Amino acid sequence: MLEKFSDVVVLGAGPAGSATALFLARAGYDVVLLDRAAFPRDKPCGEYLTPGAVKMLRDEIGVLPEMLASGARRLDKEAVVPHTACSFSGPTEALACPRVITDRVLLNQARAAGVRVAESFAVRNIFKEGGRICGVQGTGAQGDEQTAYRARVVVGADGTHSLLAREMGVVRPIPRLQRIALVTHYAAAESVSDSSVTMHLPGDSSDACCGVGAPCGPGGTQNVNIVVPITEAKKMAGRRQEYFEERLRRSFPQVWEQVSSQSQVGPLHSIGCFGHHTKRAADDSAVLVGDAATFIHPFTGEGVFFALRGAQLAAEAINLGFQKGDLSRRSLQSYDAARRAELLPRYRLCDAVQHIVHSPAMLEWAAARLRRSVSLTELLLQTIGDRARPADLFTLPNLRLALSTL
Ligand SMILES: Cc1cc2nc3c(=O)[nH]c(=O)nc-3n(C[C@H](O)[C@H](O)[C@H](O)COP(=O)(O)OP(=O)(O)OC[C@H]3O[C@@H](n4cnc5c(N)ncnc54)[C@H](O)[C@@H]3O)c2cc1C
Repeated sequence: MLEKFSDVVVLGAGPAGSATALFLARAGYDVVLLDRAAFPRDKPCGEYLTPGAVKMLRDEIGVLPEMLASGARRLDKEAVVPHTACSFSGPTEALACPRVITDRVLLNQARAAGVRVAESFAVRNIFKEGGRICGVQGTGAQGDEQTAYRARVVVGADGTHSLLAREMGVVRPIPRLQRIALVTHYAAAESVSDSSVTMHLPGDSSDACCGVGAPCGPGGTQNVNIVVPITEAKKMAGRRQEYFEERLRRSFPQVWEQVSSQSQVGPLHSIGCFGHHTKRAADDSAVLVGDAATFIHPFTGEGVFFALRGAQLAAEAINLGFQKGDLSRRSLQSYDAARRAELLPRYRLCDAVQHIVHSPAMLEWAAARLRRSVSLTELLLQTIGDRARPADLFTLPNLRLALSTL
């Protein structure tokens, strides 16, 4: 078996992996980044980037100009349309960008920072010595000779079914967030010129949601996705396309009215949307980043922000560990502490939003209040847009503002 060595090996070159590799390469470490896919590769997603993610892409990673030049579109409005209650909307500074572009641009930026990238390399095993994770092992596209990548730190950024998370034995599934998503694109109608993203909530009180993006990318296509409970899997077996159209027609008639006259571009993807937490995201010489660490409901579209910010927090903890000469679980626990302080309140807020949007009475109540108060809507959008802290929502003046709309 071929053996290769580096300071850090990162498993998975999505936003979490590319960003972690980039931050560590900039800090001077020798980093190897592995992915089983050949890039550019697609990833079923709503393709919405929160204002917080946009700020990181611009200020911390430095790829915003390239993304805009490649077809990312600036968004200025976010709307929630419950098909049973009044809708509400507010301004935003977000972005719509096909994942095939976002992920390629991030990977190229990591490469430019000196990261050694191996595409089409599928990791099959995590290996340990003396109980300590010390590398990964897998094969390239041709299934040729096994290669072992040994490193002082292994980063698991390998998505929701993370091999490293399973090896660490830390995955905690969230039973009520076991869902399936169907994602496709439509050629935008000429009338669709506004730069907004809309989340639709069903008119038939079913437990589903539907996201409609703004036209973006070189083809100017619009992303349309629905997320439904896993119990619907049987109904779509062997007839995904029919199920998707039926579901739009029944639960989201406004969306169906819009897209039924547009042509679908590309296939309909289905993807498991399996919510999970991890007991901890750090181990001896190993950390988990992005969806590998936590995956929650994608309704608020914060996944890429969590991936990028988590990458930055992980890189800071790893850098500190190298400087102290201590990469033990105890030392890397500073990453867990930073995630708890910064990301956990956001996951909780996202969860609270889920409870509200799936309770018709609460949704009607909240929608009416948000329609009446522009500043409250703006603050909420700033918070779930990753620009304001969740704690800011609960300051006295903001609580007074919320109560004043009762
Ligand atoms: C339906 C849906 C809609 C969403 N909408 C949005 C949205 O609008 N905005 C938003 O910000 N987020 C959204 N998300 C969430 C977002 O897609 C994820 O949070 C984000 O992709 C996480 O990035 P990541 O790098 O952790 O994982 P990924 O992007 O999944 O990358 C993981 C990488 O690891 C590689 N990999 C996995 N296993 C191996 C292996 N064994 N060997 C080698 N490589 C491997 C994969 O090939 C992949 O490239 C949505 C998610 C879903 C399901």
